[in-house]
Amino acid sequence: MTTPKSTEPADTGRTPLVELDDVSKYYGNIRALEGVSLEVHAGEISCVLGDNGAGKSTLIKIIAGLHRHDAGTFLIEGEEADLSSPREALDRGIATVYQDLAVVPLMPVWRNFFLGSEPTRGKGPLKRLDVDKMRETTRSELLRMGIDLRDVDQPIGTLSGGERQCVAIARAVYFGAKVLVLDEPTAALGVKQSGVVLKYVAAARDAGLGVVLITHNPHHAYLVGDRFILLKRGVMSASHTKDSVTLDELTRQMAGGSELEDLRHELERAPVPTHLGGHDQ
Ligand code: ATP
Repeated sequence: MTTPKSTEPADTGRTPLVELDDVSKYYGNIRALEGVSLEVHAGEISCVLGDNGAGKSTLIKIIAGLHRHDAGTFLIEGEEADLSSPREALDRGIATVYQDLAVVPLMPVWRNFFLGSEPTRGKGPLKRLDVDKMRETTRSELLRMGIDLRDVDQPIGTLSGGERQCVAIARAVYFGAKVLVLDEPTAALGVKQSGVVLKYVAAARDAGLGVVLITHNPHHAYLVGDRFILLKRGVMSASHTKDSVTLDELTRQMAGGSELEDLRHELERAPVPTHLGGHDQ
């Protein structure tokens, strides 16, 4: 078996928004991540590719402040990060959009957009939610990202999965995220919806955010990604920049490359012996 070739991304000389260097994480004896390095730059998309159990969720949890890494360094804008909670990660500008978005399905889109950060007006006993501002801001912020929702008053539960992802991305941009971590945003979507979501992922990048796109789909990653790392059973098996890898190579590495070739040989049908009904060649 040959190990996929690793092409180390070039050093651009800029301080990354987030940098992981040789990071490892163990759960007891289980190696969830080992020796993972990743750079996230403003205005770029860094893709993390991996199959089930590769360590993608663990990586998200470290960046999002849910878990601490056991070894290696984790830097935010060049400073060693020791996040103790997701709130702290958010305060440092790291927003994470999970696949099962935390929304209240029956509440309007604008209410979900501001959930937990509602603007108010008036003082003392007259203080109340500034509904007009929330409604108008939601509408204009979505439009700014190119999302033209028919009606921001509709319950968010009536939107498609893709539209909900887009609202979550627009929300992170509005609330000033510098880094946007997206947990498999296209995993449950069809081709068309995936395309729409990837468009808004690119819009977040164009707004100057550094994006971490977690996915198991090399086609989606290659469409928008600037950097790619591949995880396999917790280990980083390859690291590339866009100009150092082709889609075919990325797909081959993601699919298991030589492992897949071995499997193909194993699955190739052996000729059925003549006494079992096979024919002489
Ligand atoms: P999936 O796409 O299936 O969610 P993943 O790439 O997100 O997979 P992780 O969930 O990060 O992978 O898991 C990496 C490894 O660490 C797996 O072997 C998993 O069983 C193990 N693991 C993850 N979380 C824990 C935990 N809390 N305790 C023990 N082992 C864990």
